[in-house]
Amino acid sequence: MRVDVVSIFPEYLAPLRLSLLGRAQEDGILQLSVHDLRDFTADRHRTVDDTPYGGGAGMVMKPEPWALALEAVLAELPETNEAPTLIVPSPAGEVFTQALAEELAQEPSLTFACGRYEGIDERVLEWAAEHFRVRPVSLGDYVLNGGEVAVMAMVEAVGRLLPGVVGNPESLVEESHSDGLLEYPVYTKPSSWRGHDVPDVLLSGNHGLIARWRREQQFRRTAARRPELLEGADPAEFTGREREVLRELGYDVVDGRLVRQ
Ligand code: SAM
Repeated sequence: MRVDVVSIFPEYLAPLRLSLLGRAQEDGILQLSVHDLRDFTADRHRTVDDTPYGGGAGMVMKPEPWALALEAVLAELPETNEAPTLIVPSPAGEVFTQALAEELAQEPSLTFACGRYEGIDERVLEWAAEHFRVRPVSLGDYVLNGGEVAVMAMVEAVGRLLPGVVGNPESLVEESHSDGLLEYPVYTKPSSWRGHDVPDVLLSGNHGLIARWRREQQFRRTAARRPELLEGADPAEFTGREREVLRELGYDVVDGRLVRQ
């Protein structure tokens, strides 16, 4: 996958060269290019922002450097039938989820436009829609200073799904959010530590019992920490024992859907 990031702080993205994603770049699985938006300005001060029309606090990113930067990225992207995807990080975008990460991991390329200040002149998104599939995406319901941290999170979440990036692909299957539930608790040696013991079942060697315990823990943890993830689920997706656990946890079936009482 090819990833292009446009930012006024290209050095902010340096951590993406480390660890598993760094190795993915060495192995040619991921090609990451970071572009400095200021390289696409024409004035001595390399200006990328100006005051907002209509007044108000803060500055807005000027459209022209963005158009030139995105045109330069487009010129480097290989020809494809579909327009390439442009992700515009924004607290006003759709919320980034594991499902979206999985969808984006299928793309041959992703381009990210990191906003700063009060954001990017809206006309850039209108213009970009003529060349890209534009998706404003939010990391969550809070406001960051710029898009770079959001891009790092998104590129890491997408990048680790690319074949060959994570050593054992099995470890991607049972993770939190891969099946709508949170992951079960995990333990390592020693089996007894500062008065806290690893649950006996994990030492039993009985794989059937371990799998059942882990599944039950997924329900317990999800109900305790993120009950809304179970709300509205179709109970037919769960086994009889799982429905029993869900009942214990306060869920009931109403009109064929799980509802927390
Ligand atoms: N005035 C904007 C608003 O209220 O929607 C917020 C601008 S924010 C200070 C500057 C930039 O940070 C945004 O253009 C965006 O690129 C990035 N950003 C801030 N919060 C974000 C979030 N939750 N998810 C993704 N990007 C975010």
